[in-house]
Amino acid sequence: MADMLHHFIGGEKVAGAGGRSGDVTNPATGEIARQVPLASADEMRAAIQNAADAQPGWAAVTPQNRARVMFRFKALIEDHMEELATLASMEHGKTLEDAKGSVQRGLEIVEYACGIAQVLKGEFSENVGTGVDSYASRHPLGVVAGITPFNFPAMVPLWMFPMAIACGNTFILKPSEKVPSCALRMAELLLEAGAHPGVLNVVNGDKEAVDTLLTDPTIQAISFVGSTPIAEYVYQTGTSNGKRVQALGGAKNHMIVMPDADLGQATDALMGAAFGSAGERCMAISVAVAVGDTVADALVERLSPKVESLKIGPYNDPDADMGPLVTRAHYDKVKGYIDSGVEEGAKLVVDGRDFKLQGYENGNFMGGCIFDNVTSDMKIYKEEIFGPVLAIVRAKSYEDALTLVNDHEFGNGTAIFTRDGDAARDFTTRAKIGMVGVNVPIPVPVAYHSFGGWKRSLFGDHHMHGPEGVRFYTRLKTVTQRWPSGIREGAEFVMPVQK
Ligand code: NAD
Repeated sequence: MADMLHHFIGGEKVAGAGGRSGDVTNPATGEIARQVPLASADEMRAAIQNAADAQPGWAAVTPQNRARVMFRFKALIEDHMEELATLASMEHGKTLEDAKGSVQRGLEIVEYACGIAQVLKGEFSENVGTGVDSYASRHPLGVVAGITPFNFPAMVPLWMFPMAIACGNTFILKPSEKVPSCALRMAELLLEAGAHPGVLNVVNGDKEAVDTLLTDPTIQAISFVGSTPIAEYVYQTGTSNGKRVQALGGAKNHMIVMPDADLGQATDALMGAAFGSAGERCMAISVAVAVGDTVADALVERLSPKVESLKIGPYNDPDADMGPLVTRAHYDKVKGYIDSGVEEGAKLVVDGRDFKLQGYENGNFMGGCIFDNVTSDMKIYKEEIFGPVLAIVRAKSYEDALTLVNDHEFGNGTAIFTRDGDAARDFTTRAKIGMVGVNVPIPVPVAYHSFGGWKRSLFGDHHMHGPEGVRFYTRLKTVTQRWPSGIREGAEFVMPVQK
């Protein structure tokens, strides 16, 4: 019988109440590695109460002292980098080095949160009227929640809770039930860093737990990252229950390769961006738009041998370029897309469907795939596959390529590879996409900028972390004050103006 995990509530490990549970599998072997309790609505409500009880005390801690907790948390993540990356890799399947990179990117948000006293500084205006001063300050919302996807077990939770907590909120994290261990460990480390018990609670669960967060009146704001249908549902349900919601959804990121691009660089960029983490990244490039047949033919010729010789292995194989897909169900979904691409007439230049890794025959390993001659009416173009599958679309001109980017329902990331400054500038101006790269295939903003897409890749108004994170997790108060010596006698019935 696999070990049963727990929740982390009020600074303690809390066993599930004995209701439903889910399987956490080892993607390399297909075995059930551990089990995770799936919280009932009552269990979630108890955690929310705990977070509500902790919130006033936490908000009363000065920003400087909240920052000191973040400094200690940063040091603890660094000390436990290997452990956290291993927990992420073991359950997700990505290579250990890739997981370390993602923990590091998450850590950088903790570093930004270490400066919270500086970023929370308000605005002050003296003498807005004679003897009248005005100042604006940002205040925590209360109890806020985060719901995260399977593909970044450390980084995506780190996009959320350090900023929320540094701003003075308490937090309920509902991690993906496929990869719960990393979040549980980070909650222990934050407590060790000096956060009060109840400041970060990790409640494992599925739809029942999420629905409780979306409807409970104590929860003031929800940060969500996951697939578009669930993001839309979370946004609609959360906002109709009076909450502030930022819900980041799926993606179909195009990389335009112009005729003047350095094709060696573009090929290397596509290899990493399409097949790193087995394509299970919301910023993965899943569509290469070649401008002109010459570029398309050259890309196919350069990419094919590289994709055929990708090194695929379990997370702890130091030579592996990529690991298995997260679950058997996800493997079947990805394979279904490849089958449909073949049926719809795209040319499957490299077929990874039959890939088997010796000794890991029950693992969810899939070889890299390349489709050529993909067109915009095909399912493999329209929908997010989230696997090691690159679609090549042949565009006649730059304008046609840009139209593809702008007409797609998703708008997370995109990139252009070119040496032409005019083309690059036009692209950065006209692309209807949240994150744009010029000769940078995965333009993920650093921690002190903000991350988010456009169109159906983001529901809500705020991007995540950086300055937008501070705005999302706080509300503004503006005080106008004067003192008795500045008050004139007599009632004023007209709108006060400066003469
Ligand atoms: P998912 O939508 O299946 O799950 C995300 C979260 O929602 C999980 O915590 C899950 O428990 C919960 N959930 C699932 N079904 C639910 C339901 N019916 N009701 C309420 N809650 C539900 O996503 P996933 O498969 O874990 O992650 C992959 C997806 O996440 C991809 O679409 C990927 O593009 C997206 N993603 C987006 C970004 C971004 O920044 N835009 C980043 C990472 C991942």
